[in-house]
Amino acid sequence: MQKIAIVGAGFSGAVIAHQLARAGYVLDVFDSRPHLAGNCHSERDAETGVMVHVYGPHIFHTSNERVWQFVNQFDQFMPFVNRVKAVVKEKVFTLPINLLTINQFFGKAFSPSEARQFLESIGDSSITAPKNFEEQALRFVGKDLYDAFFKGYTMKQWGMHPSELTASILKRLPVRFNYDDNYYNSAFQGMPKNGYTYIVERLLDHPNIHVMLNTKFDRSMAADFQHIFYSGPIDGWFGFSEGRLGYRTLDFETSRHDGDFQGNAVINYCDADIPWTRISEHKHFSPWESHEKTLIFKEYSRFCGENDVPYYPIRLAQEKSLLARYIDLAQQERDITFVGRLGTYRYLDMHVTIQEALETADSFLAARAAGTMVPPFIVNPL
Ligand code: FAD
Ligand code: UDP
Repeated sequence: MQKIAIVGAGFSGAVIAHQLARAGYVLDVFDSRPHLAGNCHSERDAETGVMVHVYGPHIFHTSNERVWQFVNQFDQFMPFVNRVKAVVKEKVFTLPINLLTINQFFGKAFSPSEARQFLESIGDSSITAPKNFEEQALRFVGKDLYDAFFKGYTMKQWGMHPSELTASILKRLPVRFNYDDNYYNSAFQGMPKNGYTYIVERLLDHPNIHVMLNTKFDRSMAADFQHIFYSGPIDGWFGFSEGRLGYRTLDFETSRHDGDFQGNAVINYCDADIPWTRISEHKHFSPWESHEKTLIFKEYSRFCGENDVPYYPIRLAQEKSLLARYIDLAQQERDITFVGRLGTYRYLDMHVTIQEALETADSFLAARAAGTMVPPFIVNPL
């Protein structure tokens, strides 16, 4: 039987490979990097012993029961709740915006209903249908909170004014009228005891799976395979023929210190005149471990050049029309499925990545079992 190629050993590729290997398929998994797990890669720092999230902080959370059961087969998930702090003009607040943030910021002692009424009174009610990030913020939290928490941070993160960004970016963050400062609303949250790379190692540990690291896959290799699941960049597959899809990249300035550097896993810096967006202190992602030394990442965001790691898809009108052209090209391909954050050019949390990978494997197996051709497709584009 002809083999299947999996391009990319991140969660997208690893989950599909695992599911198909269990169903009896033989797979070659390629990754251009020297390690598994894509952007979720974690490894222990030799000097401090701390488990480091090499491509930036990753917290696992989901409300999807199937995804939660699935990942728990491959490592023990330790209790962890992401409680982000934010520094604004040398004062520290809690995020996402909650009753404590509102009361501290305005020097009040509002009850939940008083805080709700207050935010309604300071929100800009003339904005009935927010058209962009700035309008969404002004409508729902008002100018003072917007200026303090969102304007500067967002300009640093995205390199443009919030009025140029879509409202959907801000909608990722809840506003709460109680003292719950859990960053996520998900039903399940935790950290894998042995790190994300350990999970991917176990996903790929199957006699039907052959992993090739340091190996870039391109179209010229496609003929050897009956089907390809491609989690690399969609524009890259077509040799960037229509132009490059825009991304933001991140620079991490790493330093090591004695003791505890900041007392929390993530602290955001919201003021525009501080050049970094946030500092993550990685030992606090593993609170069940103890380390005398500590390691931090100071995170800076900038436009992604050709040789940088693509992190956040920009996805504004210009990029979406370029993406539409790549989708047209993708529809003309045969025996390839574009998956994952780069293959579909979307920001995807790990749990969404895993859910889509499970569903992609399900539909592939169902189509093959029914004897139907699997058409070329992209998972949930645009
Ligand atoms: P990737 O992890 O990018 O894997 C794709 C792989 O394909 C890469 O290893 C790449 O080297 C390889 N590849 C590409 N092209 C080729 C080629 N031609 N040949 C061979 N190999 C190739 N999610 C959460 O749930 N919680 C978080 O807290 C969180 N934090 C994040 C923080 C940051 C800064 C970012 C950017 C993302 C975060 N995410 C988080 C999202 C998470 O990183 C993604 O869900 C996940 O990485 C998607 O997996 P993937 O397999 O689709 O892509
Ligand atoms: N954001 C902000 N201030 C903060 C945190 C977030 O302005 O302190 C904005 C920023 O534009 C960010 C968006 O809200 O891109 C979504 O936040 P999230 O924490 O989901 O960002 P990510 O995890 O993608 O970095």
